[in-house]
Amino acid sequence: MTAIAMLINGERVQATGGATFERRNPLDGSVATTAPAASVADAKAAADAAAKAFPAWSALGPNARRALLLKAAHALEARTADFAVAMAAETGASGMWAGFNVHLAAGLLQEAAALTTQIAGEVIPSDVPGSLAMGVRQAAGVVLGIAPWNAPVILGVRAIATPLACGNTVILKGSELCPATHGLIIEALQEAGLPAGVVNFVTNAPADAGAVVEAIVAHPAVRRINFTGSTKVGRIIAQTCAKYLKPVVLELGGKAPLLVLDDADIDAAVAGTVFGAFANSGQICMSTERIIVDNAVADEFVTKLGARAKALPLGDPRKGPVVLGSVVDMATVRRCNALIDDALAKGAKLVCGGKSDSTLMQATVLDHVTAEMDIYREESFGPVKPVVRVNGVEEAIACANDNEFGLSSAVFSRDVAKAWNVAARIESGICHVNGPTVHDEGQMPFGGVKSSGYGRFGGMAGVREFTELRWITVQTTPRHYPF
Ligand code: NAD
Repeated sequence: MTAIAMLINGERVQATGGATFERRNPLDGSVATTAPAASVADAKAAADAAAKAFPAWSALGPNARRALLLKAAHALEARTADFAVAMAAETGASGMWAGFNVHLAAGLLQEAAALTTQIAGEVIPSDVPGSLAMGVRQAAGVVLGIAPWNAPVILGVRAIATPLACGNTVILKGSELCPATHGLIIEALQEAGLPAGVVNFVTNAPADAGAVVEAIVAHPAVRRINFTGSTKVGRIIAQTCAKYLKPVVLELGGKAPLLVLDDADIDAAVAGTVFGAFANSGQICMSTERIIVDNAVADEFVTKLGARAKALPLGDPRKGPVVLGSVVDMATVRRCNALIDDALAKGAKLVCGGKSDSTLMQATVLDHVTAEMDIYREESFGPVKPVVRVNGVEEAIACANDNEFGLSSAVFSRDVAKAWNVAARIESGICHVNGPTVHDEGQMPFGGVKSSGYGRFGGMAGVREFTELRWITVQTTPRHYPF
């Protein structure tokens, strides 16, 4: 069992009054972590500390910020083994997923380091003679980042890396499901030598999330919020931010379609589907959640997909390497079991896998899924995947867009021009032609449309979210006034 601390103003601290909460291992119920249960006063103290650190951090030269962020990337990678232990204990994740998380998260810090010299402005022609007019990007202030448990290192780092690069100070609100994993990110940043108050870390008991988040959003120094999590909580956060007129980036749920057109390379499509559907047991916002296959190739595709899915190794990640570890909780098992029951009752065919009575869930594929079945629309966020058979490109596009979400998507076809035109018509923030729906790189504009949220992380898109664009003029000649 790990006991962790919060970080406020460079000090490792417990919550006021010593309040704590527990995170238990999803497989055996043992206590994985004891973490501070922050009060509203603790949340405010974190925002105060970040506000105090802001003037010096935002004034620091870009190369000084870059050097610290690069050190943080190395410090993070040096803790890979610790992350693997913490993730297996808190969320049941496989070692492979932990390694991938740390590798990509280090990449996000490297990209953030590279951005520090790219936060530029522009000179804009003015109609006023002698006026030098500029659009200038400046650090916004304190940024609150709220990250979920499912890709904990990537999403915890993403919540704060670009904001820090832009000269903001930050508060990471850790997930109740993986406080120690999120805490390790903070330890790595501390090891890198970030000044006190630049990064702050708050953990809270589940019941206190609303009050803790609102206390930070309401703090006058807090100027940006970013939230990665479910659409349900995203709506609550959007309303809280609207109340205090604070801009927010929302990266929410998904139901990513993967289209297999009649001229697709079937083996490539199967490989992309197996990876996108079952990586981290399907608990990724970009997970392939609807496999939309042209009838002309559906039999071959489904046979091959079933064979590959059935062979994926499943087991307790603490005991050795697996592809499918434990899912995060029994609620996921119950949700997925209900989706399977509903689909089978309405005529779907089970290709492989099936219901589970523990958090070790097999890769499950359901064929002949139709719009009447719950799994057609609802995010499973588990290893249960529907195949929807369609006739032709128009039906495939209509099916892809027949959903409230719009984060990632993919199209498989040997005719790249055709696939490009299909990609252009899919309502999603992200689309990969002949690649999996699960794909992220720090320099790419990442985000969704519709109920998947708004705003973008990644590269210059992230800089635009976490800076203030100001209009500043310098009058270089005597100014003419009408009176
Ligand atoms: P969640 O929405 O249940 O919880 C995330 C966070 O919300 C936690 O930190 C929690 O403290 C906070 N929270 C809960 N209730 C709150 C309230 N009333 N007020 C303020 N904050 C509150 O999400 P989760 O289950 O941890 O993550 C899974 C979801 O995240 C899935 O839907 C998945 O698709 C989505 N996700 C999206 C992305 C993306 O980039 N778009 C990435 C990963 C996960």
